[in-house]
Amino acid sequence: MEDCIFCKIIKREVPSSIVYEDGEIIAFRDVNPMAPVHILVIPKKHISSLVDLEKDDELLIGKIYTVINKIAKQEGIDEKGFRVIVNCGEDGGQEVKHLHFHILGGKKLGVKICG
Ligand code: 5GP
Ligand code: ZN
Repeated sequence: MEDCIFCKIIKREVPSSIVYEDGEIIAFRDVNPMAPVHILVIPKKHISSLVDLEKDDELLIGKIYTVINKIAKQEGIDEKGFRVIVNCGEDGGQEVKHLHFHILGGKKLGVKICG
């Protein structure tokens, strides 16, 4: 996926502030944060959106939520709470076509927080 900005972040072709990485998942700070903590968690495998998930991805998606749990604790937002958002497709306001999970926290969140 040569044109995918998130694939470029994975390959370190585009700089980012990485907060977590393992063999399958990477998480980095959103370049345009909508909250004091705004982190994107993505699979390293290029999956375009939620509707492109396959049965074989079930374990990976489960692992992403465990990573979100870990990052929330790392960022100190686990006790006060946070929000996880996945925008999907045109109506969902998805801009980057590489599946990503927004973690938003560090303040009392409003109704519309991203997109
Ligand atoms: P979407 O609207 O697709 O759900 O969210 C895409 C998010 O990716 C946006 O919040 C946007 O700020 C973020 N983003 C887009 N390009 C980059 C980039 O090059 N680096 C980082 N760190 N975030 C990006
Ligand atoms: Zn990609």
